[in-house]
Amino acid sequence: MCKKCYVTTPIYYASGKIQIGNSYTTVACDVFARFNRQMNRKTFYLTGMDEHGQKIEEAANKAGLTPKAFVDKVASETKALWQTMNINYDYFIRTTDKNHEEVVANVFEKLLANDDIYLGTYSGNYCVSCETFFTKTQLGENDTCPDCGKPTKLVSEESYFLRLKKYADKLLAYINEHPDFIVPETRRNEVIAFIEAGLEDLCVSRTSFDWGIKVKSNPRHVIYVWIDALFNYLTALGYGSKNDDKYQEFWLNNDAVYHVVGKDILRFHAIYWPIMLMALDIPIRFKLYVHGWILTKDGKMSKSRGNAVYPMDMINRYGVDALRYYLTKELPLGNDGLFSYERFVERYNAELANDLGNLVSRVIAMVNKYCGGSATMGFVRTPYDDSLIEVATTSIKNTIFCFENFRLQDAVAETWQFVRRVNKYIDETAPWVLAKDEKAYNTLQTVMYNLVESLRVIAVLISPYLVDASKKILKALNIALDDVSFVNLAFGEHQSYPKVDKIDNLFNRLILEDELAYFAKKEETPLPKTDMISIDEFMKTKILVGKIISSKKHPDADKLLVSQVEIGNKVIQVVSGIAKYYDPATLIGKKVMVVTNLLPQKVRGILSEGMILCATDNDTLELIEIKDAKSGAVVK
Ligand SMILES: [Zn+2]
Repeated sequence: MCKKCYVTTPIYYASGKIQIGNSYTTVACDVFARFNRQMNRKTFYLTGMDEHGQKIEEAANKAGLTPKAFVDKVASETKALWQTMNINYDYFIRTTDKNHEEVVANVFEKLLANDDIYLGTYSGNYCVSCETFFTKTQLGENDTCPDCGKPTKLVSEESYFLRLKKYADKLLAYINEHPDFIVPETRRNEVIAFIEAGLEDLCVSRTSFDWGIKVKSNPRHVIYVWIDALFNYLTALGYGSKNDDKYQEFWLNNDAVYHVVGKDILRFHAIYWPIMLMALDIPIRFKLYVHGWILTKDGKMSKSRGNAVYPMDMINRYGVDALRYYLTKELPLGNDGLFSYERFVERYNAELANDLGNLVSRVIAMVNKYCGGSATMGFVRTPYDDSLIEVATTSIKNTIFCFENFRLQDAVAETWQFVRRVNKYIDETAPWVLAKDEKAYNTLQTVMYNLVESLRVIAVLISPYLVDASKKILKALNIALDDVSFVNLAFGEHQSYPKVDKIDNLFNRLILEDELAYFAKKEETPLPKTDMISIDEFMKTKILVGKIISSKKHPDADKLLVSQVEIGNKVIQVVSGIAKYYDPATLIGKKVMVVTNLLPQKVRGILSEGMILCATDNDTLELIEIKDAKSGAVVK
């Protein structure tokens, strides 16, 4: 079994507020890191920020800040969020760190010197939002970006390329020889299929913007953000700099390196990253754990769709533990997970408030009421003890096994087997009955000890995700937190509890209707969207039915018609750009939709007091005609 552990999240793009999706990866890695520390392994947990690229340059401009000031702000907000969420990382890397920038620039030169990177010309469709080029076959309808749906730009520029083709066979062989390199298997198969379909050399520089690491030997070029970003996993360990002890320890001499990534960035991690390592003769030490997306009922969560869930909203209402629990429990490795408030509240009530919270309150109240707040391993046994201890032992073993394999969801489920068994043990032994019978005193002692010892075991098993609750329970049992470890967790290990303190409710039951109403109200005021207007704004536009009573060509412009439009008992003059599509004589008598409250303006010297609405797809144009409604009728 490994003695060390290096676990990483992707570095998040510093372009905005962290959503629940990124928090999921960060919590998952934190749970895994905490577990490994509990196994007495030397653990290095890395997270950080990806701070270069065109999108960040643009976001900074919008915010009226320099790119550096902008990413400084996002980085400090993100660090604050992680602190609130009990994320105990060992290092927070930023790609604007001087050391990182220097090493990446050096690595690029090295690849260039080895002819693994070469200068060529790129032309292709580029999505600014995703900072990715797409081939014709990848593009969506009308050459839109297949990932975000925005229009792409055809770009042709001098570019550096990384030789992927050269390494395709070697990479394929590596993947085949290391069946656990990419987990789960479905993702592994995807990568294999992608490589087998043929790799194209990857464009790894840009000249269209400035905010990034410059190519040393040709500073007109900025290194592609993904090349820049992927090296964070090494620069964070000191690779390429004077002190590379951590690189030696956690990369070169370690067989437990885990990159945890979302499925959307699989290709970068499963293809580009290992190929660069191969080109640099750096051993591939990592395994990829690939998770899905967090979906809502209406699809992928995203800021622009207005269905994003932000971790602070959840924490402010339910506390950190509840959110960490939900993310750990509900979102499986590999598949997409569904986020819904209903489900969140159901899980919270059933598993946190009932199964766990109630159990802790009841046991601690009973040991205080019946045994003066102390419990010691007794010499009598009840008929239920063997089964209780057996489930404890199995649950410990299975929980550890699942954590080892990054099956966090299963780890929680295995622990809950025991939580439920302990609840059942209370019903079976009925301590409140024993307490009334003086002769049953020793049995009561045994039952109380078994219950308190169960709480200790549970508190340790949940400690990677329910960080605060675990501490509260152990504190009530007066167990020093330094003594807590998965290694000596066996039931019966702790034989005496001289003093068990009272404890407040860990999780108060929620009322589903109240919570749904709360979030429904929150959702009514979504984030402002730049291209959206409120109904009030729309209602300001006055659209009425008008009848064209005369129309002629504009004396000074071929494309324009000047029409007199009767609206109710009023006639207004409208200049419209429809001469290419309509002969003025054919317009007379048509009833159309007219915007009537535009500020009048002169168009090529002629006053226009309104706008006739048309439908157009650039090639054709059609007046929107009204059949029956009278001139002056309101359109709404
Ligand atoms: Zn895109």
